[in-house]
Amino acid sequence: MVLEGIPASPGIVIGPCFLYQYRRMEPEPRRISEKKVRTEIRNFRKSIHNAKNYIRESYEKARLQYGGEIPRILEIQLEILNDKVFLEEIEHLIRKEKFNAAYATFLIFSSKKEQLLRVSDNYMRERALDVANLKWLVLENLMGSRRPIVLPRPAVVVADDLSPADTVNLHQQKVLGIATNKGGINSHTVIIARALSVPAVVGLERITDRVQTGHKLVLDGSHGKVIVNPTTKTIQEYQKRRNLFLSLEEALIKESVKESRTRDGKRIFILANIEFENEMKQVKKVGADGIGLFRTEGIYINRHMLPSEEEQTRIYLKVAQAMYPKPVTIRTIDIGGDKIFPHIFVGQEPNPFLGYRAIRFCLDHADCFISQLRAMLRANVKGNVQVMIPMVSSLEEVYQVRELFEKAKQDLEREGIPYGKDTKLGIMVEIPSVVTLAEAFAREVDFFSIGTNDLVQYTLAVDRSNEHVAYLYSHFHPAVLRLIKETVEAAQTVGIPVSMCGEMAGDPVAVPVLIAMGLDTLSAAHVMIPEMKKVVRQLTLAECQAVYQEIRPLKTTREIKKTLETFFSEKFKDVFYG
Ligand code: PEP
Ligand code: MG
Repeated sequence: MVLEGIPASPGIVIGPCFLYQYRRMEPEPRRISEKKVRTEIRNFRKSIHNAKNYIRESYEKARLQYGGEIPRILEIQLEILNDKVFLEEIEHLIRKEKFNAAYATFLIFSSKKEQLLRVSDNYMRERALDVANLKWLVLENLMGSRRPIVLPRPAVVVADDLSPADTVNLHQQKVLGIATNKGGINSHTVIIARALSVPAVVGLERITDRVQTGHKLVLDGSHGKVIVNPTTKTIQEYQKRRNLFLSLEEALIKESVKESRTRDGKRIFILANIEFENEMKQVKKVGADGIGLFRTEGIYINRHMLPSEEEQTRIYLKVAQAMYPKPVTIRTIDIGGDKIFPHIFVGQEPNPFLGYRAIRFCLDHADCFISQLRAMLRANVKGNVQVMIPMVSSLEEVYQVRELFEKAKQDLEREGIPYGKDTKLGIMVEIPSVVTLAEAFAREVDFFSIGTNDLVQYTLAVDRSNEHVAYLYSHFHPAVLRLIKETVEAAQTVGIPVSMCGEMAGDPVAVPVLIAMGLDTLSAAHVMIPEMKKVVRQLTLAECQAVYQEIRPLKTTREIKKTLETFFSEKFKDVFYG
């Protein structure tokens, strides 16, 4: 039996199944007497306390043993359980409505989860899974049904869903792989599985009904497959694939630390996009040539107030020092659109992507903006930090930003606080109006970085997060390619650096075209870097030009994609597995 799900963490494992079955009983609503209120509240607080202890223990293990983003994920879960306003809502239901603690917990956690699921931002939607995990953790404590997962021997764990803390604990018990009914590609459990290199397939829907503990399983995390009770021939086949995967992966990462040049010697700089400061370990492991985009929204998430200038300075300095002397581009906050923050009220908007987002919000909240600019300037004491502004659509915005940027510098100067006097100020090119006026913009800023995620959405009028129109969303649309080329040409004419930090930069199939268009600096998620460097090293400039000339006259996305994919699969057929 072959079950197909979402490939969540790559790699192949073969081993026995351990089915983690737990019956999730939804609590019945009961009205309690006034006398019982105190006991119910005490039980509720105790269950929160126990849940926090469980996560805190996993957090300590993760902090000591793994570092990186894993402890941060567990910290986010702790923050949710420390949210007094949220917990008070539950206690209020017990106190005022006289609901039993289990039902009140169930109700409020479920409504918070629903609230998050309605948000269009993927990151926040995935946080709904955190809330769901926590709901069951607290409820199991409250109803006395909590059972720790104990693996009798190394196994592939099959479960309805797993919490990030469960995943850390399973890793300590030599879990071979993970297969779950639920889960999304960006859920924290999956992020942890990837960080720990545990192969995983999620979204298998009903795998828990179809396997038993002891069944033999092949789990292919690269292709999202689980094979139940495979034949000897299938096992041999997957054994071979596993060995190939391991040797290629090891070689790819080992090679990645070296600089990447095309076969004819052109240096292509491959930088990393980061969301959190603690991604630096992985960024360095893959030999990134710098940070091309530090999305600062990550430091605002799950907070009840804006981080202070001091705190931001500390975070930015940490990243700048970790990368020094390599460059670090920090982007001012891109609030709004599909990125929401509970503590800053952007409000409901009919068209959030066309609304009160990024620089529009910042120029309207000059204090918060200036404190972020000051922190970035202060982090640039050694000269490797530059500041980038998102969602610029008109030159007036650039003039206003410049004014505030100069003011921030003058204030720091007057206050005698050290900062980078020559800090560069650049913009994201992600709105078509900027491309139309690209030369004029290039004369006013120090650098461009092309953000294809938004450039595609604003050029093609396709919401980047709406699955119904996803078939129209492509960075290979001929209009998008032409806008990229125009941007590069304008930057070259005026003589400012231009790079790309949208997802297109991390698409190996796009790399030859981007090089041909004159881009020599590409920034993508650190997991993509070994592959990108490998691609660069196999190419010559002449080859890139040839394939670019081939797609230039083509009028449709389909033809362009087909041509590039054919070029790519012929050229790289032996290089990549999967
Ligand atoms: C982009 O729009 O391409 C980009 C890199 O920014 P974000 O995905 O954060 O909007
Ligand atoms: Mg963008």
